[in-house]
Amino acid sequence: MSEASFDLIVIGGGPAGYVAAIRASQLGMTVACIDKRDTLGGTCLNVGCIPSKALLNASEKFAEASSGALEGLGVKISSVKLDLDAMMESKDNIVSGLTSGIAHLFKKNKITRLTGSATITAPGTVELTDGPDKGVFSAERILIATGSVPTSLPGIEIDEKKIVSSTGALALEKLPKKLVVIGAGYIGLEMGTVWSRLGTEVEVVEYLPRILPGMDLEVANKFKAMLTKQGLKFHLGTAVKSAKSSRSGVTLTVADAKTGEEQDISCDIALVSVGRKPNTDNLGLEALGVEMTDRGQIAVDADFETNIEGIFAVGDVIPGPMLAHKAEEDAVAAVEIMAGQAGHVDYDLVPGIVYTAPEIATLGVTEEMLKEAGTDYKKGVFPFLANSRAKATGHTEGFVKILADAKTDKVLGCHIIAHEAGTLIHEVATAMAFGASSEDIARTCHGHPTMNEAVKEAALAVDGRAIHI
Ligand code: FAD
Repeated sequence: MSEASFDLIVIGGGPAGYVAAIRASQLGMTVACIDKRDTLGGTCLNVGCIPSKALLNASEKFAEASSGALEGLGVKISSVKLDLDAMMESKDNIVSGLTSGIAHLFKKNKITRLTGSATITAPGTVELTDGPDKGVFSAERILIATGSVPTSLPGIEIDEKKIVSSTGALALEKLPKKLVVIGAGYIGLEMGTVWSRLGTEVEVVEYLPRILPGMDLEVANKFKAMLTKQGLKFHLGTAVKSAKSSRSGVTLTVADAKTGEEQDISCDIALVSVGRKPNTDNLGLEALGVEMTDRGQIAVDADFETNIEGIFAVGDVIPGPMLAHKAEEDAVAAVEIMAGQAGHVDYDLVPGIVYTAPEIATLGVTEEMLKEAGTDYKKGVFPFLANSRAKATGHTEGFVKILADAKTDKVLGCHIIAHEAGTLIHEVATAMAFGASSEDIARTCHGHPTMNEAVKEAALAVDGRAIHI
């Protein structure tokens, strides 16, 4: 028997779920949002974007203070010590501040928050099988926003002690002497640099012959050289065959992807960072006959509706980049469409950012994609070495690369390596959303001295008109 009825039940309280719940409430719907975690915010706030960025920031400060880099600026620091417990506590406080902020927003928007594991027993009916709110709830529409979970490699079991996922790597209790990161995607590289800066020896094993698969190759290669300079060691084109955990640590057997030649690598901690998979366990989708893609994602139409009327899905659990901002965009569009509005997401303009030092930011197409499609394009590159703000602040590493259509000059892609590249990319995102040409960016007056002037100069460089180089 149904205990309460709503216009919309959202399953999952991550960036997709909580944003959908708030927007639906703003649009006048009665909403319940269910999550099995005690805290809202999903992967992103609890074990993803936020704790990783808190540790990236703290470890960057530690590395800056301990490297002696500040001495040249006249800042003398006599002794720098790592207090890992305090660093972790600070990260946990940041997380709890933000997760309770979402709880506050739920109250403000009169959203009913339910805690427990949800199963959809029939269209319009959700059962909470455990937790304090156990029971049956009904709604006109159900929105699945159950996100994703880490995957592993065959035969490698994550114990979150010695063989960890990103969740374990965010909460190590002591500094490992040596960490091996399996997978050179953005999560592995972010976590690898955190521990490297704190003093751990870090080696990265990647099956492909490159890092950051899918990102612009020129950027990925330059970035690999920077990380190598920072002390990370890479084994590219290398497959991990097995990982054996013992009292003293972990032994990985790896093999050259081409020759098959094997070697063992020992470490204290192995971080498995080979991707994430959609989280659809125990939702009851099979019994309902909900269609899935061949990659295990929930298949949805342009309105985010599944093949079962009244059941919708958004975020990491549907196709598209597994990123928090994409999940939020899905959520707003889905709910606005439910309310009869014109929700829309431009999946060609979802920025990808790696929050290392320097950061990587990428938007639109890569040079490889343009070559493969046979598109005639122009390229403008501007290095931060020639940017006055970068010089003044010591952030001269990296460059801006703008790719534009050779005929129309429309900007097709932008790739940046820079301090705060993740912030810089958004002026290009706005420009691209309005279909801008490189000329439009080049003729926009940019403040001086700013890092953004490098974006303007790269736009000028598309037609060989950069001023400062
Ligand atoms: P999730 O955030 O995974 O939320 C889903 C929620 O559903 C979870 O809280 C889960 O408990 C709940 N749930 C699942 N099943 C049920 C059920 N049956 N009943 C009740 N509740 C259920 N993205 C970025 O954009 N930028 C970053 O910097 C970034 N950094 C990351 C760093 C790390 C280490 C990781 C792991 C991820 C990172 N991500 C980042 C990815 C980002 O966290 C995800 O893309 C985002 O959280 C997806 O949002 P979502 O709402 O779809 O799912």
